[in-house]
Amino acid sequence: MTYDNNNIFAKILRGEIPCEKIYEDDYVLSFYDINPQKKIHVLVIPKGKYVDLDDFSHNASSNEITGLLKGISIVAQKLRISVDTGKGYRALVNIGEHGGQEVPHLHFHLFGGEKVGGMVQ
Ligand code: AMP
Repeated sequence: MTYDNNNIFAKILRGEIPCEKIYEDDYVLSFYDINPQKKIHVLVIPKGKYVDLDDFSHNASSNEITGLLKGISIVAQKLRISVDTGKGYRALVNIGEHGGQEVPHLHFHLFGGEKVGGMVQ
């Protein structure tokens, strides 16, 4: 699948649409999900143009991959949901149609602030 430059997260990255930002560095942007499913529900996205996790795994540089994973942990610490600062959280990635992915720019959901519940509904 080719990357759609007009997807909503691409627009957020370009500053064309606002977001409630939590954290940003050279590799990631993190912001609150507009339709939270748990007490804390945030998104962490790479700054690079990657459709999904498979695209990212195949095509991202080592620095981008490291940057995204570190970014997730930084955000979890900032929100005090990491195991060392809080009570833990769930990181989830939807991939493609069967995975339930709606926005075609890779994003990790982080859920926390309460017990997240069953693995799959
Ligand atoms: P997914 O189904 O994994 O693609 O999840 C897409 C997520 O993006 C959903 O949880 C939406 O609520 C969220 N979302 C869509 N538009 C926005 C937006 N403008 N700002 C923040 N979150 C958004």
